[in-house]
Amino acid sequence: MTACTYCGCDVEAHDPVVVYEREPDAVEESASVALEGDESPAGTFCNWGCVSAYARQSDVATETTCNWPPEE
Ligand SMILES: [Zn+2]
Repeated sequence: MTACTYCGCDVEAHDPVVVYEREPDAVEESASVALEGDESPAGTFCNWGCVSAYARQSDVATETTCNWPPEE
């Protein structure tokens, strides 16, 4: 089984959501070779509710595009 990153339930009992993280400079390269190999799952969740709860509890949703305004 695959355990939910947030709640630890078996995600395969639901409709799992897998979140991937990529290095920013690898995006263009990955686009040309399709989805082979160099993606690593950042987490697997039961559903979007667990993704949302996980994002609120951890710092994964901070210091990204929500860090506003720009310094200009
Ligand atoms: Zn879950």
